[in-house]
Amino acid sequence: MTAPSMSSTPDERATGFATHEVLNQPGPFENYNAYAGDTPLVEAVRVFAGDWAADHLKRAGTLVGSAEVQCLARQANRHLPELRTHDRFGHRVDIVEFHPAYHELMALIFGCETHSFAWTHERPGAHVARAALSYLWNQGENGICCPMGMTFASIAALRHDRELLAEWVPLINRAAYDPHPVYAKKKTGITVGMAMTEKQGGSDLRATITTAQPATARRGSGAPYLLTGHKWFFSVPMSDLFLTLAQTDKGLSCFLATGWLPDGSRNRLKLQRLKDKCGNKSNASSEVEFFGLRAVMLGEEARGIRTIIKMAHATRLDFAVGSSGLMRQALSQAIHHTSNRRVFQRSLIDQPIMRNVVADLAVESEAMMWMSMRLAQALDRSEADNAEALLSRICTPVAKYWACKRAPQFVAEALECHGGNGFIADHLMERLYREAPLNGIWEGTGNVICLDVLRSMQREPETVEIFLGEIAKARGANARLDAFTDDLTHRLANPTGLEPVARRVVEMMALALQGSLLLRHSPSAVGDAFCATRLDGDWGQAFGTMPQGLDTQAIIDRARIGDGT
Ligand SMILES: Cc1cc2nc3c(=O)[nH]c(=O)nc-3n(C[C@H](O)[C@H](O)[C@H](O)COP(=O)(O)OP(=O)(O)OC[C@H]3O[C@@H](n4cnc5c(N)ncnc54)[C@H](O)[C@@H]3O)c2cc1C
Repeated sequence: MTAPSMSSTPDERATGFATHEVLNQPGPFENYNAYAGDTPLVEAVRVFAGDWAADHLKRAGTLVGSAEVQCLARQANRHLPELRTHDRFGHRVDIVEFHPAYHELMALIFGCETHSFAWTHERPGAHVARAALSYLWNQGENGICCPMGMTFASIAALRHDRELLAEWVPLINRAAYDPHPVYAKKKTGITVGMAMTEKQGGSDLRATITTAQPATARRGSGAPYLLTGHKWFFSVPMSDLFLTLAQTDKGLSCFLATGWLPDGSRNRLKLQRLKDKCGNKSNASSEVEFFGLRAVMLGEEARGIRTIIKMAHATRLDFAVGSSGLMRQALSQAIHHTSNRRVFQRSLIDQPIMRNVVADLAVESEAMMWMSMRLAQALDRSEADNAEALLSRICTPVAKYWACKRAPQFVAEALECHGGNGFIADHLMERLYREAPLNGIWEGTGNVICLDVLRSMQREPETVEIFLGEIAKARGANARLDAFTDDLTHRLANPTGLEPVARRVVEMMALALQGSLLLRHSPSAVGDAFCATRLDGDWGQAFGTMPQGLDTQAIIDRARIGDGT
C-alpha cells in the first residue's frame, strides 16, 4: 500500500487547519511488465510457438505497463481530435488535428511492429506473437489499436492483387508512424483504414449506393476509377491508404484509395464531421463524402464483399484478442485495487465474496486469452494446414462474438471492485467501461457474426467436424465438458434452422473451446473452476457466483501480475 500523505499544505497544518491524511488509497498500478508478469499469457505464447519473440514482447510489455504510456493515454483521451475542414485562407484541407500524446502513442504501437510482426517474420508462431502484441497494446490505449488493427488486416485484402500487394506491402510493414498529411509514398510509415458503412446499411453492405466510374478504358483489379457517394463511418480519416466499396455497373466492388494524391493534394473527399463517440475517443471517426475519389479496383469486379471479407476475418481476430486484452487490463486493475484497499480490518481481496468475484473474473479472462491465442495459431498454420484454416474460419467469429459480448459485463464488474473511484473520469476503469461495447459493433455486430458462423457450417460442413475434433482433444479430462460437448454435438447435427437460436449455439461453441483449452493447458484450479461454472448449473448470472470448494487462492495468485522473473 502507498504511504499515507497529507492532503493539506504545511501552512494549513501549522495554523491547525489540517483536515485529514490520505489513507487507504491503493495508488496507480503502473511500471510493471504487462508481458513478463502475465503468467497465463507467457504460457500461451510458448504453447502456441511464439516464444522466440519473447524479448520483443517483453519490451512491449514494459512500455504498456509504464506510467508514461498511461499518462499519454489519459492525455489523448482528454484532448480530443479536432476536424479542420479549411485552412485560414479558405482552402479545404480536410485534416484532423490530434494532441501530441496521440502521435506519441501511435509511434510506440507502430514502432513495436504490432501491425506488421506477423507479416515480416515468416516463421511458425508469428501470428501468435503479433496477437500477443495486440493483446498488450489493448491494455495500453484502445484508440490507437483501431488504426493498428486495420493496417495489419489490410494485407489480407491486398493479397487479391499481387501487383498492388507488391506496391504497398513494403510501406505498410514499416515499423514507423508518420503523421504528415502528404502522399503515402513520400512517408516513412503509413496507416491503412477502411470506409464501408453507409447510412442505409452497415451490416448489409450490399445496400451500398456509392458508385464507381472507370477513369480509363481499363477495367478490373488495378484499374483506376472515380468514386462518388458518402460513408457514414470512416475511422482514421487521416489514413494514408484505405479500402472502400462502391457499385460499378456490374456490382459491388472493392477499391483502394490514397488519402492524398501524388501532387500533394487531398484525394477527392470531404470530411463532413467527426463522430462524438461514447468511447474510443482518442481515435477520430468521421463521416465522409467522395466526389470523384481517385481509387483503383482491388480484386474481382462485383466481388467486393469477397475481397473485403479477408480483411474482416483478420480484424475479427484482432477484436477477439483486443477485447481479451481489455478484460486483462480490467482484471489487473481490480486485483491491484482489491489487494491494496482494506475494509473491515482485511484487504478487500481477502473478503470471501470479493475473492469469489476476482477469481471468477480471472477464470473468464484466462479463458478468453487462450481462445484468442489458439485462433492466432490457427491463422498462423492456415497456409500449410487446411484443417487449421477451417478451424480459423469457423472459430474466429465464435471468439469475436464471445469476447465482445462478455467484455462490457466483465469491465462493469471490475469497475465495481474499485468502488466509487472506478466511476471517476480520471481513472482508467472509466475509460475501459466506455470502450468495452465497441468491439462488439464494428466488423460485424453480434447477430451478424452468429450468422457468419452458421454460414460456415452450411457452406463448409467439414468445419463442424474440425471444430468438434479440437474440443475432443480434452475428451475424458472433465465429465462436465464431455456432457456439454455431447449436447452441443447434438445441436450442431443439423445447422439448417439454427438461426433463431444462433446466439446460444455460438456461445456454447465458445465455452466448449475455452473449456477444452483450459483443461489442456492451464492448472487444474482454473480448468476445474471453468467447467464447474460455465459448463454446469451452479453458477449465477453475475460474476462472483462460483460454487464453494474451488481453489480461488490459486486462481488469483496465477492471475496476479508478477515481476516476471
Ligand atoms: C466507433 C465506430 C467506428 C466505426 N468505424 C468504421 C469504419 O472505420 N469503417 C466502416 O466501414 N465502418 C465503421 N463503423 C461502422 C460499423 O462497422 C457499423 O456500425 C456496424 O457494421 C453495424 O452497421 P450499422 O450501424 O449500419 O447497423 P445495422 O446494420 O443496421 O445493424 C443494427 C442491428 O441489427 C442487427 N442485424 C443486422 N442484420 C441482421 C440480421 N440479418 N439478423 C438479425 N439481426 C441483424 C445487428 O446485429 C445490429 O444489432 C464504425 C462504428 C463505430 C461505432
